[in-house]
Amino acid sequence: MKIHALSTGSVQVKQSFLYPGRGPRRQLNLFLPGAWADPLPIHCWAIEHNGVLRLVDTGETATAHDVPFARMAVKPEQELPGAMAAADLALGDVSEVVLTHAHGDHIDGLVHVRAPVLINDLELRHVAAPFSRFMRRVLHQPLPEGFGPTTFALDGGPFGAFSHSRPISDDCRIVAVGTPGHTPGHVSVICIDDDGRHVMLAGDTTDSLEQLHSLRVDAVAPKAKTHRATMETILAHCSQHATIYLPSHDPGSAARLAGGITVGEESAALVGRSQ
Ligand SMILES: [Zn+2]
Repeated sequence: MKIHALSTGSVQVKQSFLYPGRGPRRQLNLFLPGAWADPLPIHCWAIEHNGVLRLVDTGETATAHDVPFARMAVKPEQELPGAMAAADLALGDVSEVVLTHAHGDHIDGLVHVRAPVLINDLELRHVAAPFSRFMRRVLHQPLPEGFGPTTFALDGGPFGAFSHSRPISDDCRIVAVGTPGHTPGHVSVICIDDDGRHVMLAGDTTDSLEQLHSLRVDAVAPKAKTHRATMETILAHCSQHATIYLPSHDPGSAARLAGGITVGEESAALVGRSQ
């Protein structure tokens, strides 16, 4: 199995997105003037396994509009075709795409993809809900043209600490697990690598590994309680299985994948680097 970190440009978010206030200010502050953080990567992932090439998410495109709390910086050559070429991969070889959730910076790259697209049925229901449609209109964030994924249910029973899962590959080494919070139907994809480690392609479950350790609730999660419970589940999973945790916008994700650095090892790796 080989997993590639693809990068489709960067995004700058407000500090209030990364370090939200409590109560009603958690979401309100996003729409008020405030300081901006340094740019973050917009990753998506390619998995080569048993002769099959899959994508997890598809990244952003250059035509995406900024929103009050996020500024996109994507050049046309950084979109999915260029990102795949940089990893020596061809779009035409993709057999399947699995979406973690339906935010633009994860699905807009679908305009380049012909392969079947899978999404959790709960997430697609959330996409179709009146409030989601209203927000897409207000934020000028339409679904990509031709958006028509196939749904799946997380009906495969527990996987590690996660109560809901579904195998993606026949040999069950690629598994979708329910990680609700950031969106109600958010999933992560866990790949069991050749060394038996769990590589968790975590979408937007958190913005960073630091946020996971801090159990800091997401600024846009509809229900803070659900998001916190998912972070606790992820930490429980990481304590049971050697897990490389890779959120889409964590500047440290690509290096942790390349170095095979599991949760709990990162501080040791930092010490090693400084010596
Ligand atoms: Zn998102």
